[in-house]
Amino acid sequence: KLDFAGRIAKRLGANIREEVVHAVDNVDLTIRKGEVVGLVGESGCGKSTLGRIVAGILPPSEGRILRDGIDLLNRNSADSREMKLRTQMIFQDPYASLNPRMKVADIVGEAPLVHGITTRGGYDAYVDEQMRRAGLDPAFKRRYPHQFSGGQRQRIGIARALAVKPDFIVCDEAVAALDVSIQAQILNLFIRLRSELDLTYLFISHDLGVVEHISDRVVIMYLGRVVEEAPSETVFANPNHPYTKSLLASVPRIESRKRAFAVVKGEIPSPLNPPPGCHFHPRCPHAMERCRVEKPELKVVAPGQRSACHLNDAA
Ligand code: SF4
Ligand code: MG
Repeated sequence: KLDFAGRIAKRLGANIREEVVHAVDNVDLTIRKGEVVGLVGESGCGKSTLGRIVAGILPPSEGRILRDGIDLLNRNSADSREMKLRTQMIFQDPYASLNPRMKVADIVGEAPLVHGITTRGGYDAYVDEQMRRAGLDPAFKRRYPHQFSGGQRQRIGIARALAVKPDFIVCDEAVAALDVSIQAQILNLFIRLRSELDLTYLFISHDLGVVEHISDRVVIMYLGRVVEEAPSETVFANPNHPYTKSLLASVPRIESRKRAFAVVKGEIPSPLNPPPGCHFHPRCPHAMERCRVEKPELKVVAPGQRSACHLNDAA
């Protein structure tokens, strides 16, 4: 069983001066083995921070990250190091994370060699297998990243991540930089790899439409807090939280290529100084007096669905 649990409160030092902000505020996230969880929110909501915390890359100021009961934050534990290797991240811009002076073969093969997952003797065959699985022709393995298209570079990033035999992948805006047609190809690759390799994903995106196709369960974040969590079908058929509803209204449907921008009214407030009470109240069409002062807690509103909105108390 793959299980993350814990109250995660992360203080993220802002780039400017010594301002400190709770980028992620008391988030409880459990991901079951084999599950694909979509994590959605506008930029600055803390979803990337949460992704890095879950992957064990960024230590939270308080809280725990448990995987199969093993504390990922325990640096002295060999189990914890192994768990971290079994978690890989895939980012929006693979080019930024691919060493431009390394050939694809070495980008893909270096870590498995270091970690004893492959040997010098088996190296070439191992690299070929990883490339093929990610939809790349091994004939190009002596090439450098800049010789590939954006979609192919994302495939190189995927081949590199999978080469260390992870069972949990955190994708942070993994298709956001790609053209729509290429997005679909890469999403299909993720879906195929999931069943081929028994993977579990945390799929982070600002675009609810992107996670719709891949997620079993969707978690919606707003300014560092989870505001709604539900099975994917429920989020799309029967969203509860006003923020989720406004995000849904901005999802382009397949029949219309037109994307409606700025359906969620108003600017996102600064995460450095989030509004009191319900963080969403300045933009919420249903805001009541209570919303300005009292933080809504996540409560079960239907089987498997939780939402943090005071409107649910009135019902
Ligand atoms: Fe809107 Fe109030 Fe619900 Fe927040 S708690 S989403 S402000 S109705
Ligand atoms: Mg981000």
